[in-house]
Amino acid sequence: MIKIEKLRKNFKDNEVLKSISLEIEKGEVISIIGPSGSGKTTLLRCLNLLEIPTSGILGVGDVQVDFRGKAPSKQQKRSIQKFSGMVFQHFHLFPHLAVLENIIEAPMVVQKRKKAEVVEEAEILLQKVGLIEHKDHYPDQLSGGQKQRAAIARMLSLKPEVLLFDEPTSALDPELVGEVLTVIKELSEEGQTMIIVTHEMGFARDVSDRVIFIADGFIVEQGKPSELFTAPKEERTKQFLQKVLVR
Ligand code: ADP
Ligand code: MG
Repeated sequence: MIKIEKLRKNFKDNEVLKSISLEIEKGEVISIIGPSGSGKTTLLRCLNLLEIPTSGILGVGDVQVDFRGKAPSKQQKRSIQKFSGMVFQHFHLFPHLAVLENIIEAPMVVQKRKKAEVVEEAEILLQKVGLIEHKDHYPDQLSGGQKQRAAIARMLSLKPEVLLFDEPTSALDPELVGEVLTVIKELSEEGQTMIIVTHEMGFARDVSDRVIFIADGFIVEQGKPSELFTAPKEERTKQFLQKVLVR
């Protein structure tokens, strides 16, 4: 459902993604791991065109864009962006809107759907992430874990085909990490296709069908978690895994 071929992304002279090729099937749960600055966030942002790749081919659903020297059309951009939903490290909730309002905003404004119907769905999503009793609270009245669960509900309200998580727990106090990972794990068990950039190695091992190790803008190695975490083939992967705690 997603296919990228020889994708490159430069920021001026800095080549951040150096020919990434990758295919993701419907229902797959992929974890992306790798050192800070290796291009993980940039890769996720290229998948939903928050960044425009410098060259290469991106196929998302039935839309395919070849970036050689040209920008995607408005229509291509719209369908690619509709296809995926992103959850950010720092939540990005609207601070002036209560939790429920945060969730209904995009379905009402972007999708022009009826308020009653959207509210009903939002309440179901809030039940699911365990926040229904906080629906009228504002983001600054919530803990980090609650904010991230609200951000997940908001992302789900647009019913994306693929969920993109960019280090969803790295801004959280340690005791709040578990509640967010539990929600993500439940989504994976429902068969949601997802790509998760994470430093939580135990979680990656637990939920992923495939783990991708990225360093310096390359895919160094990828494989099943049981293989990659226990018997990495590449020296780079071994070094990285020795430094991070796999618990
Ligand atoms: P990671 O998520 O793996 O830590 P990033 O994708 O955020 O890595 O960043 C990879 C490299 O791209 C870094 O060197 C970073 O400074 C650079 N970079 C990321 N976003 C931008 C940007 N908008 N403008 C210029 N450089 C950027
Ligand atoms: Mg990042």
